[in-house]
Amino acid sequence: MNQVFYKSTRSDSAPVTASQAILQGLAKDGGLYVPETVPKLDVPMKELAGKPYQEVAYAVMKQFLTDFTEEELKSCIARAYDSKFDTEKIAPLVPVEDCYYLELFHGATIAFKDMALSILPHLMTVSAKKNGVKNEIVILTATSGDTGKAALAGFAGVEGTKIIVFYPKDGVSPIQEKQMVTQRGDNTFVVGIHGNFDDAQNGVKAIFNDRELEKELDAAGFQFSSANSINIGRLVPQVAYYAYAYAQLLDRGEIADGEPMNVVVPTGNFGNILAAYYAKSMGVPIEKLICASNENKVLFDFFRTGTYDRNRDFILTSSPSMDILISSNLERLIYKVAGESAEQNAAFMKQLGAEGVYTLPEEMRGQLKDFYGNYTDEAGTAETIREVYEKTGYIMDTHTAVAAHVAKTYRKETGDITKTVIASTASPYKFTRSVMSAIDPKYQKEEDFALIDELSRLSGTKIPQAIEDIRSAPVLHKTVCEKDEMIKVIQSFLGV
Ligand SMILES: *Cc1c(COP(=O)(O)O)cnc(C)c1O
Repeated sequence: MNQVFYKSTRSDSAPVTASQAILQGLAKDGGLYVPETVPKLDVPMKELAGKPYQEVAYAVMKQFLTDFTEEELKSCIARAYDSKFDTEKIAPLVPVEDCYYLELFHGATIAFKDMALSILPHLMTVSAKKNGVKNEIVILTATSGDTGKAALAGFAGVEGTKIIVFYPKDGVSPIQEKQMVTQRGDNTFVVGIHGNFDDAQNGVKAIFNDRELEKELDAAGFQFSSANSINIGRLVPQVAYYAYAYAQLLDRGEIADGEPMNVVVPTGNFGNILAAYYAKSMGVPIEKLICASNENKVLFDFFRTGTYDRNRDFILTSSPSMDILISSNLERLIYKVAGESAEQNAAFMKQLGAEGVYTLPEEMRGQLKDFYGNYTDEAGTAETIREVYEKTGYIMDTHTAVAAHVAKTYRKETGDITKTVIASTASPYKFTRSVMSAIDPKYQKEEDFALIDELSRLSGTKIPQAIEDIRSAPVLHKTVCEKDEMIKVIQSFLGV
């Protein structure tokens, strides 16, 4: 089988193996790792129809992680996708109205981040062993709310690792914050920063590029890695569920073999939709990649005009995990449409850093035609939740509602009736207050846990364990810092 190596999007430095890319997270030059070529699936989709999630995940991931043995990868998959998920299907596909909702929120922290973060710690420890790493691995993560908890849950208690999570103190939902600050485990650290998600993410990126700190840590027996979606070990597991969605449609006879589907993805950092793009490149029959944004609509403007412009107000919305102005993973797509020119991509990223804006030339824009971008505002999000609930009884979360609204807009605009899969990225229980207020404003006055009970009654679904767990859990993490104090905080946690 062909080996797949990973190269940086910002310089022509020597390619690394999958396990090395997973260990490092970010390339030394500040770029992101991308596969030299996206591998093709070597199993026909027809054969994957009806197969359990674990088998589909293996068929997809083995093509990317070519320096893992079959035994290593299968063991990582078995340990990740087990009874931590509250359904055997792992990622069920639920038909509602004229779309299918790919529910990616059945893991330990009830958001789609669990799909990748339940396996990343296992990929990471195997990678460390493979590369003879002796240092303890310190996972450094910036979160807009969901990654943080999912990474904490994934890495808590994993030997040879510590995890430090930074979140915007006033930029996550109360339930998201409670989930993080109640995290158990001696190797877990949680810090609120006075700033927004982009501040947290930029701080973490700067720390990764701090060579002095790296030396200091190495001397003390530590090295950093990343659990953010800039890590290829996050991206690759996410490719699997797009293949699985198609396999489920085939298995149920909803689609003919080879007939394409569209996917609609509520987007923030561009990781989830990039995984869909990789799935398409692998040969999963996907037609359009529909990128849905909330009022922070940088990506909508980008797909419409070819100009990426982050110079605008940062808006706090009811879909906080998409409140992002710098979508890190877009860099992997930019690199691709720049003809894999690290030099040209690096120039765009430099411009983004310095001026907050860059514009693609016409011939590069032409390569984005598989993508369609649109957005919805707060009223549209709430209206979608209410309408779908009233018509069908199905209750979705705010992020998924952004995608559902954009799916409708797309159909109206284009008349395209291709089968449509909506990535359903969070359980409504994670954003109960916004969801219930969308259904009826009378709920605004009620307490969080009263609303949770009411949501369970209205939807006829069981309250997830993740929510039950935080009802009474004590707050264990109280650190708050300014955005320029992140290094100091890390040093004090690690005692260096
Ligand atoms: C992280 C997240 C998103 C955005 O996903 P990206 O991969 O960052 O584009 C959307 N919805 C929810 C619920 C999330 O947690």
